[in-house]
Amino acid sequence: MDYVVRAIDEKAGILAFCGRTTNLVEKARIIHNTLPTASAAFGRLLTASALMGLMLKGEKDTITLRVDGGGSAGIIVAHADSKGNVKGFIGNPEAHIPLNQKGKLDVAGIVGSTGTLTVVKDLGLKEPYVGQVPLVSGEIAEDLTYYFAKSEQIPSSVALGVLVNTDGSIKASGGFIIQLLPQAEEKAVASIEEQLKNTKPVTRLIEEQLSPEDILKNLLKDFELTFTARHVLNYHCSCSKEKIEKILISLGEEEVKDILKSSGVVELVCNYCKKAYRFNEKDIQEIFYT
Ligand code: ZN
Repeated sequence: MDYVVRAIDEKAGILAFCGRTTNLVEKARIIHNTLPTASAAFGRLLTASALMGLMLKGEKDTITLRVDGGGSAGIIVAHADSKGNVKGFIGNPEAHIPLNQKGKLDVAGIVGSTGTLTVVKDLGLKEPYVGQVPLVSGEIAEDLTYYFAKSEQIPSSVALGVLVNTDGSIKASGGFIIQLLPQAEEKAVASIEEQLKNTKPVTRLIEEQLSPEDILKNLLKDFELTFTARHVLNYHCSCSKEKIEKILISLGEEEVKDILKSSGVVELVCNYCKKAYRFNEKDIQEIFYT
């Protein structure tokens, strides 16, 4: 089962998030039919949104991460709420290139590195919070580290990883975010840096069946962690016929009738879950005249 946890050492000023997302990313792979490099890029962003969903305070708050790096992957979007529901889409699910020099899936190679990372937090206020930074590498974890430093002024360490089996399915996926609170001392920073240098990649730890709690306990063994939240993760889309009808109405009657005339049916496919909604002439009449 996939889940994310939040832990804190208030005295030392450390806040940490860790999650296993193997099943979530596998479900995303099946829905979107992603090839391995695209699976890795998409999986990293979905994992990041799942972790950041745990940072939201309100029940109805949501977070959306959008990476637009100009590469062959196209735009990648991941969306999470504060209860562990995650969804997303990738512009080109077939983006796939040879392994990079380190022998890893070349995420930066398909994301590109000349665009932006945008974070939108809907906190139920009049306007959503929007933070945007230029991409620093296109590897996503480094880009998020930069986002936290630049937009939120929070020193953070972000690790995200996806391992893909030879048949294209997801072998292991997960990540962590460690953040320093204002009261953190120099000593704590040095200890974390040392620990991160000596730790295995996060996907290896997940492959070895370490739980998110154990990963954090091992990573932060010099600290006294209290676990304050745990959320089961699900790839979940809340689209419905009613919501899609609203999109049709916003397109306007003329446009919709044109589509109907040329295709005989109006079909809209949800970006997030690929569910197709079909409307025939009678449905369209009902939407616009009742
Ligand atoms: Zn949907």
